[in-house]
Amino acid sequence: MLQLKTIKKNYVVGGNPVPALNGVSLDFKNNEFVAILGASGSGKTTMLNIIGGLDRYTSGDLLIDGKSTKEFKDADWDAYRNATIGFVFQTYNLISHLSVLDNVEMALRLSGVNAKERKERASKVLIEVGLKDHLTKRPNQLSGGQMQRVAIARALVNNPKILLADEPTGALDSVTSVQIMKLIQKISKDRLVIMVTHNSEIANQFSDRIVRLVDGVVVEDTKPAFIQPNEDSEKLINKKTSMSYLTAIKTSFKNLMTKKGRTIITSIAGSIGIVGIALVLSISTGMTNYTNDIQSDSLAGFPITINSVVQTDQFGPPPGTPFGDPIENEFPTEQTIYAFDSSASSTDHINIIDDEFINYLSLMNSNDYNSISYTRSILLNIVDQSSTGAYIKVDTSSSGGFFSSSYFNEMPDNPEFIMSQYDILFGTYPTTYQEIVLVVDSQNRLDLDFLDALGIVITETYEFEDFIGESFKVVPNDLFYQEFGGIYLPSSNYQMMYESSESITITISGILRVKENASSELLSEGIGYTTMLTSHMLEIAATSEIVLAQISSPDTNILSGQPFNAQISYQTVMRLIGGDTSPTGVQIYPKSFESKDRIKEYIDLFNVGKTEDEAIVYTDLAETISSTISSLINTITIILTAFAGISLVVSSVMIGIITYVSVVERTKEIGIMRSLGARKKDISRIFNAETLLIGLASGFFGVLVAVILNFPINIIVNNLIGVANFSNLILSNGIFLIVLSTILTLIAGLIPSRIAARRDPVVALRTE
Ligand code: ADP
Ligand code: MG
Repeated sequence: MLQLKTIKKNYVVGGNPVPALNGVSLDFKNNEFVAILGASGSGKTTMLNIIGGLDRYTSGDLLIDGKSTKEFKDADWDAYRNATIGFVFQTYNLISHLSVLDNVEMALRLSGVNAKERKERASKVLIEVGLKDHLTKRPNQLSGGQMQRVAIARALVNNPKILLADEPTGALDSVTSVQIMKLIQKISKDRLVIMVTHNSEIANQFSDRIVRLVDGVVVEDTKPAFIQPNEDSEKLINKKTSMSYLTAIKTSFKNLMTKKGRTIITSIAGSIGIVGIALVLSISTGMTNYTNDIQSDSLAGFPITINSVVQTDQFGPPPGTPFGDPIENEFPTEQTIYAFDSSASSTDHINIIDDEFINYLSLMNSNDYNSISYTRSILLNIVDQSSTGAYIKVDTSSSGGFFSSSYFNEMPDNPEFIMSQYDILFGTYPTTYQEIVLVVDSQNRLDLDFLDALGIVITETYEFEDFIGESFKVVPNDLFYQEFGGIYLPSSNYQMMYESSESITITISGILRVKENASSELLSEGIGYTTMLTSHMLEIAATSEIVLAQISSPDTNILSGQPFNAQISYQTVMRLIGGDTSPTGVQIYPKSFESKDRIKEYIDLFNVGKTEDEAIVYTDLAETISSTISSLINTITIILTAFAGISLVVSSVMIGIITYVSVVERTKEIGIMRSLGARKKDISRIFNAETLLIGLASGFFGVLVAVILNFPINIIVNNLIGVANFSNLILSNGIFLIVLSTILTLIAGLIPSRIAARRDPVVALRTE
């Protein structure tokens, strides 16, 4: 039961109220076919929209089931429209991109009917209105009469108590009009039908009652109904509408699928930023991995070095020069020369590498280092018979070149590690202290100086065999030094030394070359000897005459007869002659970059609680290099991300605009859905679901494109720097980007979807 009580409706046009209805009072029974007649502009549509809850009255009241609707909330109107009202419009108002069946199902979707029942009910009603053969057609494939039948089926599918028809035959020819009117007449047998028309013939022929409107006022009512309160038993409103999120998503999915081209273009637009960020992430992952590889390959090979003397600080200007700005004091004009102490301008720290520290190092986790090698500065005195037959003392250190390096070097006491870094080109690795190796450089070369020092005739090339078996003599102290009046001098009778049975023969047993993929070049070119030889020589030296003599005269340098001074100390001499077995340096070769940090921590731990003088100061050459590289990478990544971020913002804005355009474009559709009982919430849900799906698609698409683009990028990078699989999008980044794209797109679509939800349904329906 429906009652209009002095309903007035004003439209505000240009700030002035324009009356469309001017105090309409009407009662309707639950079962009648009422025709509203009136000229164009008389307020028929306005009245129908107000009855249907699509538009709001300005004053008066609309009573539903005897209850005032003055306090109705949006949700109440929505429920009323969805469950009680069926709308039929002159222009059919079908959603053009949905099939006939889907158009009818839409009304059921909004009231939360499941898919199976939806299909059943929709097809049943469509068959009833005579469209059995047209279920899958699009509206534009139907005639006007057929389209109106679809509209009627849609209005009826929810089995509404009231059918409102606004000039349903207005656009139809007379024959079709009659068919449609017969259908509506049949429908009116068990519900209230209110039909607007300006065709009095039709009204007279089919309706039970005619209400005539002129300028918003009822001027004639052929069969007024007078309803007593509580007369009708059947209630008009009995259920609430509801559409689940899932239905919203399915609905928008369906919508997107019917407009594939547009969906694809939108997704591509949205994916541009994602592609950019995905590529930046891939490349920066690649860069990080690459530099990590390089770092652990080349930089991890750099040992942590603990030398007995470390220069810890340098300050200036050096004492003895005029004080002040050193730059200012450059290029003085006076005819004066200044003396200065170069060693005083820096602070030296003496590392005490004693048993305590060596013992501490031996307890370090052996998984962290490849090798710890100790340098002991015993001077090996080596003699050889040159190819010309002369006996010579082999000069064990190079004289030329910028760096002075030694040709005879002790190898770290870790054959496995050396084998992992070096190939034995020929011969075998030393197993006794009398065996030594020849180390050539990566191009199989040996320095001329070195060959010269060994007394080998210089030619262009040598065979490996030329060196294998080549032997030298290590001369023990007692044979090498001769005492003259308390001073020990090196003898020069090399032949005697060479031929003496006391001399230790050392023989080249193998030739080593660094491996192509070695992480460290821990051996210098020249001769490598074992720690066994060092230990053996130290052992012999310990009981040698010169060492014993030096021990018994701690104040005088036994080699010169001079007292010790700052440059040459007791310890220096003892080390030289093998009287001091303590190491002068430690090199720790870390396994990886991370283990290097752990080794440093371990040494730092040793220093805890020690004074500055007692502390161990280590040097890590690789550290400075690597920190420069990683800060460079960070800078590049930040710049690239900023660029990609801009493109992401741009593509989000693009999606926002596209969604907004879609809202504008689908204003009519929004009006139709609202007339079917969709809540504002449902409309925004559908649009949100749509942007969500587009965001998801953009994300997937963007990630996919990035993954595909990585192939050519990797080919190019491989050609440029020879690194395979450089650019790589890791899974977690991919997922992150899809989520990011979804969220950003959703945000971009929020405003347009709110605009959509707020559209006035009446205005929306008027839009073409
Ligand atoms: P009918 O359906 O009888 O042709 P309407 O109900 O559509 O008439 O319109 C009644 C009057 O209200 C007309 O003068 C029309 O111009 C005016 N009107 C209807 N809708 C609006 C609107 N949204 N804004 C301003 N005026 C309107
Ligand atoms: Mg009208």
